[in-house]
Amino acid sequence: MTAAPILSVRGLATHFDTPKGTVRAVDGVSFDVPEGRTLGIVGESGSGKSVTSLSVMGLIDPPGRIAAGEILFRGRDLAQLSERERQSLRGQSLCLVFQDPMAALNPVYRIGRQVEETILAHHAIPRREAAARAVELLRMVGIPDPEARAREFPHNLSGGMRQRVTIAMAMANKPDLLILDEPTTALDVTIQAQILDLVRGLTGTTVMLITHDIGVVREMCDEVVVMYGGRIMEHGPVAEITRRPRHPYTAGLLASLPSGRMRGQRLQPIAGSVPSPHAMPPGCPFAPRCPQAMARCAEAPPMAAPAPGHRVACWLEETVHG
Ligand code: SF4
Repeated sequence: MTAAPILSVRGLATHFDTPKGTVRAVDGVSFDVPEGRTLGIVGESGSGKSVTSLSVMGLIDPPGRIAAGEILFRGRDLAQLSERERQSLRGQSLCLVFQDPMAALNPVYRIGRQVEETILAHHAIPRREAAARAVELLRMVGIPDPEARAREFPHNLSGGMRQRVTIAMAMANKPDLLILDEPTTALDVTIQAQILDLVRGLTGTTVMLITHDIGVVREMCDEVVVMYGGRIMEHGPVAEITRRPRHPYTAGLLASLPSGRMRGQRLQPIAGSVPSPHAMPPGCPFAPRCPQAMARCAEAPPMAAPAPGHRVACWLEETVHG
């Protein structure tokens, strides 16, 4: 049975008004994040994946705006909340961990103090108790000798340790939904694996993971939303989509993975590059790079449902699989 969604995004459109015209960074995106599951949102830079997560967090600033759609968190429309209610939700129920841990840490405060402040912002407990909890959290995210580390400043820690601290801060108030935006991009492969294990070990937490790396999604997620040009190309269970991708863009992402190679086969990066947001093709946004593009791709394909819980926006669904 499918778990109830903790987050439902319905017809989300996030636009940016620029001197060159309106950029539709997210253009009619709908998906659910079921409770207790890990949903990956994958795509190249400019796909709209990070703008989707910032929209959920209520962090879109002018010239950006939510032009349409609903974001329901436990059934409540986030757009209807006051800024104060939203802020309280952000610290407590919804947490976002960014790619660059230094951006989230204050360089002039000791690590322990920063974790403590996050706890105290939402709990009326004595500082000594918050300090003890902060050390516990640092231990939980695998920081060795957490009592000593708590007394250090961010610049004394490695990139991997700093990312662990930001995850400890995000976990401080046991959020219902943890959004990780490219949490491992700046880290080397071994540290990436450790951070991924750590996130996987956060049992019971619902996670939305934003990444350009479909290999990370294959390792960690239950479901995946594949985005391109601000739209969803494919969405469904990771096991099914990685075994048999139905959208040429998903197939291209998988083929570009080192482990996706057949013996002796060369790595196949997707040819071409993401079009400028000011010059998105009118039909299927992937058409200029798609090896299977045809005349009808000049029109936007409808969303097909080849299997329960699996959606694909591609004309091939009708012409080949239909
Ligand atoms: Fe390729 Fe056409 Fe499918 Fe777009 S709709 S992915 S261009 S075949």
